[in-house]
Amino acid sequence: MEFGFTQEQETMRDEVRQFIAENVTDEVIAELEDGEEGGSGPHYKELRRKIAERGWVGISWPKEYGGQDGSRIHQYIVEEEFSRVGIGVGGAGSGAPAILAAGTEEQKQFFLPGLINGDIDLALGFTEPQAGADLAGLQCQAVKDGDDWVINGQKMFTSSAHYATHIYLMARTDPDAPRHRGISIFLVPMDTPGITVRPLWTIQNAPTAPKGTTYGMSRTNETFFEDVRIPQSAMLGDENRGWYVGAMGLNLDRVGASRYLISVRRDEDIINWVKENDFDGHSPADDPAVRDKLAELWIEAQVCRLMTMRSMSIVEQGGNFTYEGSAEKVFAPEHGVKTSESITQMLGPYAQLLNGSPGAIDNGIYAHNLMGAFQSGINHGSVQVMRDQVARRGLGLPRG
Ligand SMILES: Cc1cc2nc3c(=O)[nH]c(=O)nc-3n(C[C@H](O)[C@H](O)[C@H](O)COP(=O)(O)OP(=O)(O)OC[C@H]3O[C@@H](n4cnc5c(N)ncnc54)[C@H](O)[C@@H]3O)c2cc1C
Repeated sequence: MEFGFTQEQETMRDEVRQFIAENVTDEVIAELEDGEEGGSGPHYKELRRKIAERGWVGISWPKEYGGQDGSRIHQYIVEEEFSRVGIGVGGAGSGAPAILAAGTEEQKQFFLPGLINGDIDLALGFTEPQAGADLAGLQCQAVKDGDDWVINGQKMFTSSAHYATHIYLMARTDPDAPRHRGISIFLVPMDTPGITVRPLWTIQNAPTAPKGTTYGMSRTNETFFEDVRIPQSAMLGDENRGWYVGAMGLNLDRVGASRYLISVRRDEDIINWVKENDFDGHSPADDPAVRDKLAELWIEAQVCRLMTMRSMSIVEQGGNFTYEGSAEKVFAPEHGVKTSESITQMLGPYAQLLNGSPGAIDNGIYAHNLMGAFQSGINHGSVQVMRDQVARRGLGLPRG
Protein backbone atom coordinates (compact mmCIF):
# COMPACT_ATOMS: atom_id res chain seq x y z
CA MET A 1 0.00 0.00 0.00
CA GLU A 2 1.31 3.45 -0.92
CA PHE A 3 0.89 6.05 1.83
CA GLY A 4 2.77 8.79 -0.01
CA PHE A 5 1.31 11.89 -1.64
CA THR A 6 1.34 12.52 -5.40
CA GLN A 7 3.80 14.93 -6.96
CA GLU A 8 1.00 17.45 -7.50
CA GLN A 9 0.02 17.21 -3.82
CA GLU A 10 3.64 17.67 -2.73
CA THR A 11 3.90 20.74 -4.95
CA MET A 12 0.86 22.18 -3.23
CA ARG A 13 2.46 21.44 0.16
CA ASP A 14 5.56 23.41 -0.92
CA GLU A 15 3.36 26.34 -1.92
CA VAL A 16 1.61 26.31 1.46
CA ARG A 17 4.94 26.17 3.29
CA GLN A 18 6.25 29.10 1.32
CA PHE A 19 3.09 31.08 2.03
CA ILE A 20 3.45 30.34 5.75
CA ALA A 21 7.08 31.43 5.75
CA GLU A 22 6.10 34.72 4.12
CA ASN A 23 2.83 35.48 5.92
CA VAL A 24 2.76 33.98 9.40
CA THR A 25 4.35 36.94 11.09
CA ASP A 26 5.31 37.47 14.73
CA GLU A 27 2.23 39.72 15.06
CA VAL A 28 -0.07 36.87 13.98
CA ILE A 29 1.57 34.46 16.43
CA ALA A 30 1.35 37.01 19.26
CA GLU A 31 -2.42 37.38 18.66
CA LEU A 32 -2.97 33.65 18.61
CA GLU A 33 -1.01 33.19 21.80
CA ASP A 34 -3.31 35.61 23.58
CA GLY A 35 -5.31 33.03 25.50
CA GLU A 36 -8.34 35.29 25.88
CA GLU A 37 -8.82 36.72 22.43
CA GLY A 38 -7.38 33.77 20.49
CA GLY A 39 -8.14 34.10 16.81
CA SER A 40 -10.05 37.37 16.85
CA GLY A 41 -7.23 39.88 16.29
CA PRO A 42 -6.75 41.99 13.13
CA HIS A 43 -3.50 40.34 11.97
CA TYR A 44 -4.98 36.87 12.20
CA LYS A 45 -8.15 38.03 10.43
CA GLU A 46 -6.03 39.47 7.63
CA LEU A 47 -4.10 36.21 7.36
CA ARG A 48 -7.35 34.26 7.17
CA ARG A 49 -8.53 36.50 4.33
CA LYS A 50 -5.30 35.83 2.42
CA ILE A 51 -5.60 32.08 2.99
CA ALA A 52 -9.17 32.21 1.69
CA GLU A 53 -8.04 34.18 -1.39
CA ARG A 54 -5.68 31.32 -2.18
CA GLY A 55 -8.70 29.00 -2.16
CA TRP A 56 -7.36 26.97 0.76
CA VAL A 57 -10.41 27.04 3.02
CA GLY A 58 -13.33 24.70 2.37
CA ILE A 59 -11.46 23.20 -0.60
CA SER A 60 -13.89 20.28 -0.82
CA TRP A 61 -16.98 22.51 -0.62
CA PRO A 62 -18.97 23.29 -3.78
CA LYS A 63 -17.74 26.19 -5.91
CA GLU A 64 -21.12 27.91 -5.75
CA TYR A 65 -20.57 28.47 -2.00
CA GLY A 66 -16.99 29.68 -2.27
CA GLY A 67 -15.26 26.29 -2.19
CA GLN A 68 -13.17 24.63 -4.90
CA ASP A 69 -15.05 21.36 -5.52
CA GLY A 70 -11.65 19.94 -4.65
CA SER A 71 -10.17 17.04 -2.79
CA ARG A 72 -10.17 16.55 0.96
CA ILE A 73 -6.60 15.39 0.64
CA HIS A 74 -5.67 18.91 -0.46
CA GLN A 75 -7.59 20.29 2.49
CA TYR A 76 -5.71 17.89 4.72
CA ILE A 77 -2.34 19.08 3.39
CA VAL A 78 -3.27 22.70 4.03
CA GLU A 79 -4.47 21.90 7.56
CA GLU A 80 -1.41 19.82 8.28
CA GLU A 81 0.99 22.58 7.30
CA PHE A 82 -0.89 25.33 9.16
CA SER A 83 -1.34 23.16 12.25
CA ARG A 84 2.43 22.83 12.44
CA VAL A 85 2.63 26.54 13.17
CA GLY A 86 -0.38 26.46 15.49
CA ILE A 87 -2.91 27.93 13.08
CA GLY A 88 -6.40 26.68 12.25
CA VAL A 89 -7.31 27.73 8.72
CA GLY A 90 -10.93 28.42 9.60
CA GLY A 91 -14.06 27.24 7.90
CA ALA A 92 -13.96 24.01 9.89
CA GLY A 93 -16.02 23.27 12.99
CA SER A 94 -19.11 21.15 13.14
CA GLY A 95 -21.36 23.96 11.88
CA ALA A 96 -20.01 23.94 8.34
CA PRO A 97 -20.67 20.27 7.50
CA ALA A 98 -24.11 20.58 9.12
CA ILE A 99 -24.96 23.65 7.02
CA LEU A 100 -23.73 21.93 3.87
CA ALA A 101 -25.86 18.88 4.60
CA ALA A 102 -29.00 20.42 6.05
CA GLY A 103 -28.99 24.16 5.29
CA THR A 104 -31.46 25.96 3.05
CA GLU A 105 -30.09 27.52 -0.12
CA GLU A 106 -30.22 30.92 1.57
CA GLN A 107 -28.27 29.63 4.61
CA LYS A 108 -25.60 28.04 2.42
CA GLN A 109 -25.20 31.21 0.35
CA PHE A 110 -24.88 33.34 3.47
CA PHE A 111 -22.84 31.21 5.87
CA LEU A 112 -20.40 29.19 3.77
CA PRO A 113 -18.62 32.05 1.95
CA GLY A 114 -18.53 33.95 5.27
CA LEU A 115 -16.95 30.99 7.07
CA ILE A 116 -14.39 30.73 4.29
CA ASN A 117 -13.28 34.36 4.29
CA GLY A 118 -13.48 34.77 8.06
CA ASP A 119 -16.38 37.24 8.14
CA ILE A 120 -18.41 34.68 10.06
CA ASP A 121 -17.30 32.85 13.20
CA LEU A 122 -19.62 30.25 14.69
CA ALA A 123 -19.58 29.50 18.40
CA LEU A 124 -20.84 26.06 19.37
CA GLY A 125 -23.83 26.20 21.71
CA PHE A 126 -24.52 22.61 22.67
CA THR A 127 -23.38 21.96 26.27
CA GLU A 128 -25.47 23.11 29.26
CA PRO A 129 -24.83 23.01 33.01
CA GLN A 130 -26.78 19.73 33.27
CA ALA A 131 -26.18 18.42 29.76
CA GLY A 132 -22.65 17.68 28.62
CA ALA A 133 -21.80 14.03 28.04
CA ASP A 134 -25.55 13.46 28.24
CA LEU A 135 -26.29 16.15 25.66
CA ALA A 136 -29.77 14.86 24.83
CA GLY A 137 -30.84 16.06 28.29
CA LEU A 138 -30.53 19.71 27.22
CA GLN A 139 -33.11 22.15 28.56
CA CYS A 140 -32.57 25.38 26.63
CA GLN A 141 -35.95 25.93 25.07
CA ALA A 142 -37.21 27.46 21.85
CA VAL A 143 -40.95 28.17 21.78
CA LYS A 144 -42.84 29.04 18.61
CA ASP A 145 -44.49 32.47 18.73
CA GLY A 146 -46.22 33.43 15.47
CA ASP A 147 -43.56 33.27 12.75
CA ASP A 148 -40.72 33.49 15.29
CA TRP A 149 -39.02 31.32 17.87
CA VAL A 150 -38.29 32.63 21.36
CA ILE A 151 -35.27 31.12 23.13
CA ASN A 152 -34.68 30.92 26.87
CA GLY A 153 -31.93 29.03 28.64
CA GLN A 154 -28.22 28.75 29.34
CA LYS A 155 -25.27 27.24 27.51
CA MET A 156 -21.92 26.34 29.08
CA PHE A 157 -18.41 26.26 27.60
CA THR A 158 -19.40 28.36 24.58
CA SER A 159 -15.80 28.89 23.50
CA SER A 160 -15.30 31.88 21.18
CA ALA A 161 -18.83 33.21 21.90
CA HIS A 162 -17.22 36.49 23.03
CA TYR A 163 -16.09 37.24 19.49
CA ALA A 164 -18.21 34.93 17.31
CA THR A 165 -20.73 36.48 14.92
CA HIS A 166 -23.22 33.61 15.32
CA ILE A 167 -23.95 30.72 17.61
CA TYR A 168 -24.80 27.26 16.30
CA LEU A 169 -27.35 26.44 18.95
CA MET A 170 -29.18 23.29 20.02
CA ALA A 171 -32.50 23.90 21.75
CA ARG A 172 -35.49 21.87 22.78
CA THR A 173 -38.46 22.56 20.52
CA ASP A 174 -40.78 19.77 21.67
CA PRO A 175 -40.58 19.09 25.42
CA ASP A 176 -43.11 16.25 25.13
CA ALA A 177 -41.23 14.24 22.49
CA PRO A 178 -38.66 11.53 23.36
CA ARG A 179 -35.40 13.29 24.28
CA HIS A 180 -33.55 12.97 20.97
CA ARG A 181 -36.60 13.81 18.87
CA GLY A 182 -37.58 17.14 20.39
CA ILE A 183 -34.42 19.09 19.57
CA SER A 184 -33.74 21.61 16.78
CA ILE A 185 -30.73 23.63 15.68
CA PHE A 186 -30.66 27.37 15.12
CA LEU A 187 -28.05 29.70 13.64
CA VAL A 188 -28.42 32.76 15.84
CA PRO A 189 -26.65 36.11 15.33
CA MET A 190 -24.75 36.96 18.53
CA ASP A 191 -26.01 40.55 18.44
CA THR A 192 -29.64 39.47 18.85
CA PRO A 193 -31.15 41.22 21.91
CA GLY A 194 -31.34 39.00 25.01
CA ILE A 195 -27.98 37.22 24.62
CA THR A 196 -25.41 37.68 27.40
CA VAL A 197 -21.91 36.20 27.31
CA ARG A 198 -19.91 35.82 30.51
CA PRO A 199 -16.32 34.63 30.70
CA LEU A 200 -15.59 31.23 32.17
CA TRP A 201 -11.89 31.07 32.95
CA THR A 202 -10.08 27.77 32.72
CA ILE A 203 -7.22 26.38 34.77
CA GLN A 204 -4.86 28.02 32.23
CA ASN A 205 -5.84 31.49 33.39
CA ALA A 206 -4.45 31.63 36.93
CA PRO A 207 -1.53 31.71 36.70
CA THR A 208 -1.66 32.74 33.06
CA ALA A 209 -0.24 30.17 30.69
CA PRO A 210 2.96 31.51 29.09
CA LYS A 211 3.18 32.43 25.40
CA GLY A 212 3.77 29.39 23.25
CA THR A 213 1.64 27.02 25.32
CA THR A 214 0.49 24.48 22.78
CA TYR A 215 -2.60 23.15 24.46
CA GLY A 216 -5.59 24.57 26.18
CA MET A 217 -7.50 27.82 26.04
CA SER A 218 -7.63 30.11 29.05
CA ARG A 219 -11.14 31.43 28.36
CA THR A 220 -14.39 29.84 27.40
CA ASN A 221 -17.86 31.25 28.26
CA GLU A 222 -21.31 30.84 29.67
CA THR A 223 -24.01 32.19 27.36
CA PHE A 224 -27.48 33.17 28.55
CA PHE A 225 -30.60 33.51 26.40
CA GLU A 226 -33.45 35.59 27.70
CA ASP A 227 -36.47 35.94 25.39
CA VAL A 228 -34.22 35.84 22.35
CA ARG A 229 -36.50 36.21 19.35
CA ILE A 230 -35.38 34.79 16.01
CA PRO A 231 -37.18 34.11 12.73
CA GLN A 232 -38.05 30.64 11.40
CA SER A 233 -35.32 31.14 8.77
CA ALA A 234 -32.70 30.76 11.56
CA MET A 235 -33.59 27.07 11.97
CA LEU A 236 -31.06 24.67 10.46
CA GLY A 237 -32.65 21.51 9.09
CA ASP A 238 -36.09 20.25 10.01
CA GLU A 239 -37.89 21.03 13.24
CA ASN A 240 -37.18 18.40 15.93
CA ARG A 241 -34.47 16.73 13.79
CA GLY A 242 -31.62 18.78 15.27
CA TRP A 243 -30.10 15.90 17.19
CA TYR A 244 -29.24 14.02 14.00
CA VAL A 245 -27.94 17.10 12.17
CA GLY A 246 -25.79 18.05 15.18
CA ALA A 247 -24.39 14.55 15.67
CA MET A 248 -23.48 14.27 12.00
CA GLY A 249 -21.72 17.66 12.11
CA LEU A 250 -19.74 16.73 15.23
CA ASN A 251 -18.71 13.42 13.73
CA LEU A 252 -17.45 15.03 10.53
CA ASP A 253 -15.70 17.74 12.51
CA ARG A 254 -13.48 15.04 13.98
CA VAL A 255 -11.94 14.45 10.53
CA GLY A 256 -8.88 16.59 10.08
CA ALA A 257 -5.24 17.09 10.70
CA SER A 258 -5.25 19.63 13.50
CA ARG A 259 -6.24 17.35 16.35
CA TYR A 260 -3.41 14.86 15.98
CA LEU A 261 -0.83 17.36 14.78
CA ILE A 262 -0.87 19.33 17.97
CA SER A 263 0.60 16.23 19.65
CA VAL A 264 2.99 15.46 16.84
CA ARG A 265 4.38 18.96 17.18
CA ARG A 266 4.98 18.30 20.86
CA ASP A 267 6.75 15.02 20.01
CA GLU A 268 8.98 16.82 17.55
CA ASP A 269 9.73 19.48 20.15
CA ILE A 270 10.79 16.89 22.71
CA ILE A 271 12.95 15.02 20.23
CA ASN A 272 14.68 18.23 19.21
CA TRP A 273 15.09 19.27 22.84
CA VAL A 274 16.67 15.93 23.70
CA LYS A 275 19.04 16.16 20.75
CA GLU A 276 20.08 19.73 21.46
CA ASN A 277 20.58 19.63 25.24
CA ASP A 278 23.66 18.51 27.02
CA PHE A 279 24.16 18.44 30.78
CA ASP A 280 27.82 18.41 31.85
CA GLY A 281 28.68 16.27 28.85
CA HIS A 282 25.71 13.98 29.33
CA SER A 283 23.01 14.07 26.67
CA PRO A 284 19.52 12.82 27.53
CA ALA A 285 19.62 11.21 24.09
CA ASP A 286 22.08 8.66 25.54
CA ASP A 287 19.66 7.57 28.25
CA PRO A 288 18.01 4.27 27.23
CA ALA A 289 14.80 5.10 29.13
CA VAL A 290 14.48 8.42 27.25
CA ARG A 291 15.22 6.79 23.90
CA ASP A 292 12.66 4.11 24.57
CA LYS A 293 9.96 6.62 25.54
CA LEU A 294 10.64 8.84 22.53
CA ALA A 295 10.43 5.90 20.15
CA GLU A 296 7.12 4.86 21.71
CA LEU A 297 5.68 8.38 21.40
CA TRP A 298 6.85 8.71 17.83
CA ILE A 299 5.23 5.43 16.82
CA GLU A 300 1.96 6.52 18.44
CA ALA A 301 2.17 9.83 16.62
CA GLN A 302 2.41 7.99 13.30
CA VAL A 303 -0.63 5.92 14.26
CA CYS A 304 -2.53 9.17 14.94
CA ARG A 305 -1.54 10.43 11.52
CA LEU A 306 -2.60 7.25 9.74
CA MET A 307 -5.94 7.20 11.57
CA THR A 308 -6.57 10.76 10.39
CA MET A 309 -5.64 9.91 6.82
CA ARG A 310 -7.90 6.89 6.85
CA SER A 311 -10.82 9.05 7.99
CA MET A 312 -10.13 11.60 5.26
CA SER A 313 -9.98 8.84 2.71
CA ILE A 314 -13.30 7.29 3.83
CA VAL A 315 -15.07 10.64 3.69
CA GLU A 316 -13.41 11.53 0.36
CA GLN A 317 -14.70 8.33 -1.20
CA GLY A 318 -18.20 8.82 0.22
CA GLY A 319 -17.79 5.78 2.49
CA ASN A 320 -19.67 5.02 5.67
CA PHE A 321 -17.94 7.09 8.36
CA THR A 322 -19.26 5.82 11.67
CA TYR A 323 -16.82 5.18 14.53
CA GLU A 324 -13.51 6.22 12.96
CA GLY A 325 -13.69 9.88 14.04
CA SER A 326 -14.54 8.81 17.59
CA ALA A 327 -11.55 6.45 17.63
CA GLU A 328 -9.28 9.33 16.59
CA LYS A 329 -10.88 11.51 19.27
CA VAL A 330 -9.76 8.95 21.86
CA PHE A 331 -6.32 8.21 20.54
CA ALA A 332 -5.06 11.70 19.69
CA PRO A 333 -5.99 13.51 22.96
CA GLU A 334 -4.66 10.65 25.07
CA HIS A 335 -1.46 10.70 23.08
CA GLY A 336 -1.27 14.44 23.77
CA VAL A 337 -1.52 13.86 27.50
CA LYS A 338 1.12 11.13 27.36
CA THR A 339 3.47 13.34 25.36
CA SER A 340 3.11 16.23 27.81
CA GLU A 341 3.55 13.94 30.78
CA SER A 342 6.67 12.41 29.26
CA ILE A 343 8.41 15.74 28.78
CA THR A 344 7.74 16.78 32.37
CA GLN A 345 9.14 13.44 33.55
CA MET A 346 12.25 13.82 31.44
CA LEU A 347 12.83 17.36 32.68
CA GLY A 348 12.33 16.42 36.31
CA PRO A 349 10.25 17.87 39.16
CA TYR A 350 10.83 21.56 38.31
CA ALA A 351 8.99 21.04 35.01
CA GLN A 352 5.81 20.62 37.03
CA LEU A 353 5.92 24.18 38.33
CA LEU A 354 3.52 26.71 36.81
CA ASN A 355 4.21 30.15 35.39
CA GLY A 356 5.49 32.51 38.08
CA SER A 357 6.64 29.83 40.52
CA PRO A 358 10.28 30.18 41.58
CA GLY A 359 12.34 27.61 39.70
CA ALA A 360 9.72 26.97 36.98
CA ILE A 361 11.42 25.86 33.76
CA ASP A 362 10.71 28.03 30.69
CA ASN A 363 7.95 29.94 32.54
CA GLY A 364 6.17 26.72 33.39
CA ILE A 365 5.24 25.96 29.79
CA TYR A 366 5.58 22.19 30.23
CA ALA A 367 3.26 22.08 33.25
CA HIS A 368 0.74 24.30 31.41
CA ASN A 369 0.90 22.07 28.34
CA LEU A 370 0.21 19.07 30.52
CA MET A 371 -2.83 20.69 32.15
CA GLY A 372 -4.11 21.95 28.81
CA ALA A 373 -3.69 18.56 27.15
CA PHE A 374 -6.54 17.23 29.25
CA GLN A 375 -8.93 19.78 27.71
CA SER A 376 -8.83 18.12 24.31
CA GLY A 377 -9.97 14.86 25.89
CA ILE A 378 -13.11 16.65 27.09
CA ASN A 379 -14.18 19.22 24.51
CA HIS A 380 -16.09 18.11 21.39
CA GLY A 381 -17.06 14.90 23.18
CA SER A 382 -15.13 13.33 26.04
CA VAL A 383 -12.93 10.29 25.50
CA GLN A 384 -15.29 8.17 27.61
CA VAL A 385 -18.24 9.05 25.40
CA MET A 386 -16.07 8.44 22.30
CA ARG A 387 -15.09 5.01 23.60
CA ASP A 388 -18.76 4.19 24.01
CA GLN A 389 -19.38 5.19 20.37
CA VAL A 390 -16.51 2.99 19.18
CA ALA A 391 -17.91 0.09 21.21
CA ARG A 392 -21.39 0.49 19.73
CA ARG A 393 -20.74 1.62 16.17
CA GLY A 394 -17.39 -0.04 15.63
CA LEU A 395 -17.71 -3.26 17.57
CA GLY A 396 -21.48 -3.68 17.52
CA LEU A 397 -21.72 -3.94 21.31
CA PRO A 398 -25.03 -3.08 23.00
CA ARG A 399 -25.59 0.44 24.40
CA GLY A 400 -23.79 0.79 27.77
C1 LIG B 1 -12.02 23.81 27.15
C2 LIG B 1 -13.39 23.35 26.77
C3 LIG B 1 -14.03 23.92 25.67
C4 LIG B 1 -15.32 23.53 25.33
N1 LIG B 1 -15.94 24.16 24.29
C5 LIG B 1 -17.24 23.87 24.03
C6 LIG B 1 -17.96 24.62 23.05
O1 LIG B 1 -17.42 25.51 22.38
N2 LIG B 1 -19.28 24.36 22.89
C7 LIG B 1 -19.94 23.39 23.60
O2 LIG B 1 -21.13 23.19 23.39
N3 LIG B 1 -19.29 22.67 24.55
C8 LIG B 1 -17.96 22.89 24.77
N4 LIG B 1 -17.29 22.18 25.75
C9 LIG B 1 -18.05 21.23 26.57
C10 LIG B 1 -17.69 19.77 26.38
O3 LIG B 1 -18.21 19.26 25.19
C11 LIG B 1 -18.23 19.06 27.63
O4 LIG B 1 -17.42 19.50 28.72
C12 LIG B 1 -18.18 17.58 27.51
O5 LIG B 1 -19.15 17.14 26.59
C13 LIG B 1 -18.43 16.90 28.88
O6 LIG B 1 -19.58 17.40 29.49
P1 LIG B 1 -19.55 17.95 31.01
O7 LIG B 1 -18.43 18.90 31.16
O8 LIG B 1 -20.92 18.42 31.34
O9 LIG B 1 -19.18 16.69 31.89
P2 LIG B 1 -20.18 15.54 32.39
O10 LIG B 1 -21.18 15.24 31.33
O11 LIG B 1 -20.65 15.91 33.74
O12 LIG B 1 -19.17 14.34 32.50
C14 LIG B 1 -18.14 14.32 33.48
C15 LIG B 1 -17.23 13.13 33.19
O13 LIG B 1 -17.98 11.91 33.28
C16 LIG B 1 -17.86 11.16 32.07
N5 LIG B 1 -19.14 10.52 31.75
C17 LIG B 1 -20.37 11.10 31.76
N6 LIG B 1 -21.30 10.21 31.38
C18 LIG B 1 -20.66 9.04 31.14
C19 LIG B 1 -21.07 7.74 30.71
N7 LIG B 1 -22.36 7.47 30.45
N8 LIG B 1 -20.12 6.79 30.56
C20 LIG B 1 -18.82 7.05 30.82
N9 LIG B 1 -18.36 8.24 31.24
C21 LIG B 1 -19.26 9.24 31.39
C22 LIG B 1 -17.53 12.19 31.01
O14 LIG B 1 -16.85 11.58 29.93
C23 LIG B 1 -16.64 13.15 31.77
O15 LIG B 1 -15.33 12.66 31.83
C24 LIG B 1 -15.98 22.52 26.09
C25 LIG B 1 -15.33 21.93 27.17
C26 LIG B 1 -14.05 22.34 27.50
C27 LIG B 1 -13.38 21.69 28.69
